[in-house]
Amino acid sequence: MDLRIDPITDDGPVRLPDPLPFGRIFTRRMFTERWDAVHGWHDAVIGPYRPLMLDPAAQVLHAGQAIFEGMKAYLRPDGRLNLFRPEANALRFNRSAERMAMPALPVDRFIEAIEALVRLEHEWAPHSDGASLYIRPVMFASEPTFEVRAAREFLHYVVLSPAGPFFASGLQPVAVLVSEDHIRAARGGTGTAKTPGNYAASLSAIEGARARGYQQVLWLDAVERRFVEEAGAMNVAFVYDGREIVTPALSGSILPGITRDSILRLAPDLGFPVREARLDIDTIVADVDAGRITEAFCMGTAAVVVPIGRIGHHGADHVVGDGVAVPIAQRLYRALTDIQYGRAPDPYGWTRVIDARIPASGRSVA
Ligand SMILES: *Cc1c(COP(=O)(O)O)cnc(C)c1O
Repeated sequence: MDLRIDPITDDGPVRLPDPLPFGRIFTRRMFTERWDAVHGWHDAVIGPYRPLMLDPAAQVLHAGQAIFEGMKAYLRPDGRLNLFRPEANALRFNRSAERMAMPALPVDRFIEAIEALVRLEHEWAPHSDGASLYIRPVMFASEPTFEVRAAREFLHYVVLSPAGPFFASGLQPVAVLVSEDHIRAARGGTGTAKTPGNYAASLSAIEGARARGYQQVLWLDAVERRFVEEAGAMNVAFVYDGREIVTPALSGSILPGITRDSILRLAPDLGFPVREARLDIDTIVADVDAGRITEAFCMGTAAVVVPIGRIGHHGADHVVGDGVAVPIAQRLYRALTDIQYGRAPDPYGWTRVIDARIPASGRSVA
């Protein structure tokens, strides 16, 4: 890729606030590039972080052609940074692009943009336990038009956010409310694409759950309103009899999470068999009440694992296990983050080291 590096004016020492919030602080540089039918991807630049100039008729604001990814760079004990399965994010970005009638972005180009930016901004990677440099690649339709058709101009950009741990002191179980009125996604819709519209569609249910004392929504399938799909913007799993991990099979309306996939591959090696199935919510709450389900948890890049302590359904609350202890969620969290942060060997070949010590300011890293 032909990448230009523009200078930035504010180049003083990096100071991160303590405690570090999630997703509200951004580094000083960003990556941008453009696409049109004549030139393909072009104009790749890393320059100062700044507001985007957007035509008010930009198609993204009217027809919503937009996709994104969420990933992290993890500070290793040796001071370098790990990316975790970036090819999987690149492939999912392209599957999202295809679903949303947007142009493909070569996997190498997706990763190269991230690596170049992270290398220049590596000082922003936080040192505190469980913190990371969150990476947000985005693509959206920038062409000014009210016509309802796929746009012919797009912007791809990447920004970085030093982010604190989701849980400052150990995993804390959250309460989820089964959504009865709203669904997140339907088969044939855009549920498997990482597109902002899915989030927009979920927000009123999430706010409603919060107002009733729950942190997240447990989504059911759109057709029968019966089968568990996801929890908030994360995948979900249940632990049977302190051993077997059961998660909804990818149904065509579930976002295929990379954390979910990693846990499905990791858990058997830790002695926990896994199973993918259609999970009826009535069976789930009955098994919670009978004590057969001993733990439940959400899975996603931002928090890795979020235990579920309580499930609200039809006006009643169902406490999972004792509502507090989550030994298996804890084991999985530890095993996965040990690999991500380079504290343990990576027999799966999931991590990719970025040599952040390359002095890169002011010269091309293409
Ligand atoms: C991003 C996302 C996930 C989790 O995916 P990861 O790759 O594990 O971060 C799950 N559900 C939804 C709806 C998502 O947008």
